[in-house]
Amino acid sequence: GLDDIASPRRTKEIIQRHGFSFKKSLGQNFLIDQNILNKIIEAAGLDSTKGALEIGPGIGALTEKLAQQAATVTAVEIDQRLIPILQEVLEPYPHVHIHHGDVLKTDLLALFQQNFANVSKVSVVANLPYYVTTPILMRLLEEKLPLENIVVMIQKEVAERMAAVPGTKDYGSLSIAVQYYSVPELVCIVPKTVFIPQPNVESAVIRLTVREQPPVEVDDEAFFFQVVQASFAQRRKTISNNLKTRFFPKEGRERLEALLAEAGIEPSRRGETLSLQEFATLSNVLLKAGI
Ligand code: SAM
Repeated sequence: GLDDIASPRRTKEIIQRHGFSFKKSLGQNFLIDQNILNKIIEAAGLDSTKGALEIGPGIGALTEKLAQQAATVTAVEIDQRLIPILQEVLEPYPHVHIHHGDVLKTDLLALFQQNFANVSKVSVVANLPYYVTTPILMRLLEEKLPLENIVVMIQKEVAERMAAVPGTKDYGSLSIAVQYYSVPELVCIVPKTVFIPQPNVESAVIRLTVREQPPVEVDDEAFFFQVVQASFAQRRKTISNNLKTRFFPKEGRERLEALLAEAGIEPSRRGETLSLQEFATLSNVLLKAGI
């Protein structure tokens, strides 16, 4: 409605009254569009039995909508100047908890145990600060937090890389890491005009539905991700050349090519053509060979 925090009039009023100035270095681009906020909220599928974790609530535009849908909301904000503003504007919602801190340095498991013990499921919902999108999402996925899904506004180009399929230019180690832990879906592309101030890049909303089990069998996760990283070290090189540089720098090609054959992978292929399953098989074969 007209009086929501996200309405342009109310946002301006809050910012002016508190003398708030945007910090570019913290990725502060606030949402002022009800339609986009509603699309984000809808994609998360919240209800009164579920919890929501928000990263970077700003002045509470999205937080307010989350509070209207979820049983409980925890919002982690790094900028001390926003804490009193959030406490004021979210005062009507006692089930919203504001946590001051850097999400990358917060003990999220402890936060979950404290704040989400009584809910059936938890979603992460956020308009993320773009300078730390990937570290934040990878941390949420790798820590294996009990999450149902992650619905976030991010840079459009990063969203496309996360959701990319093999054989496309966007497909790379980020696609594989994200798809190992979740099922990504692009929700919508978002124009710059829905933010103040407007960012320099186009944005997109993406939903990551968190998997209960990885879709492929990997004997050693850390090694699997090393193999993926190595395979994309130089995108224009073949899988054989990239793996040779990383794992067999002083040997001839015979052993590597035999192992690739065992994994069913042509040495002339490029990393960007390998599926998740092929990377899993390859890393299991290399691991078993003691590489
Ligand atoms: N959710 C608000 C909205 O949609 O209007 C604000 C989104 S703004 C893109 C990103 C927010 O994340 C800012 O409030 C910023 O201060 C906060 N932030 C930046 N880095 C952070 C970090 N490492 N941990 C927690 N919050 C952070």
